[in-house]
Amino acid sequence: MNPDTAAEQHVFLGLGSNLGQPETHVLRAFDGLARMPGSRLLRRSSLYRTAPVGFVDQPHFVNAVAEMRTVLSPEALLVAILALERDHGRVRSFANAPRTLDIDILLFGGLVRHTDRLTLPHPRAHLREFVLRPLAEIAPDCDFPGRGPVWELLAACEPQGVTRLGGVADAGTQASARMRSASLTQ
Ligand code: AMP
Repeated sequence: MNPDTAAEQHVFLGLGSNLGQPETHVLRAFDGLARMPGSRLLRRSSLYRTAPVGFVDQPHFVNAVAEMRTVLSPEALLVAILALERDHGRVRSFANAPRTLDIDILLFGGLVRHTDRLTLPHPRAHLREFVLRPLAEIAPDCDFPGRGPVWELLAACEPQGVTRLGGVADAGTQASARMRSASLTQ
């Protein structure tokens, strides 16, 4: 085993923006994640355009997912992503308010944890098409502890107005193939 990577955890982060220039915020956030200490950015999904959830009278969102490895603890990773949000001028007003940049820890290895500061996996990720669709693009087999693989959660998710904006040429192919074969066997 490589001692440099022994303590690394495999994590997935969800990114979203609907203020200023959302695409630019998300693309720059990927660059910020690539520079994050103790961490490696492995893959980034395409960008997706998403209808707002909860507070619906606000601009559409741009969403994406990042796959990383990190030696940071979950709490240290949270501190680092909150700092990145602040660098993008994030101001917290009310729940589901428009934001320049939001980053959530979707999965931190197979860790299941609930504290005042952090719930892992993210408590709503498995219900949200804007999380599951980009996640299925880059990691369809990745498992939500106790819930199943991403492709299966996406197949069960009602459409919520998510469309791909561009990026990877054959995005979604692996997940679509799995969903097609699942529907054939049902
Ligand atoms: P919001 O920006 O509205 O997504 O809320 C951010 C706050 O949610 C953070 O300051 C965390 O304390 C809390 N939180 C709880 N679980 C998570 C998670 N899995 N990822 C990111 N933030 C989380």
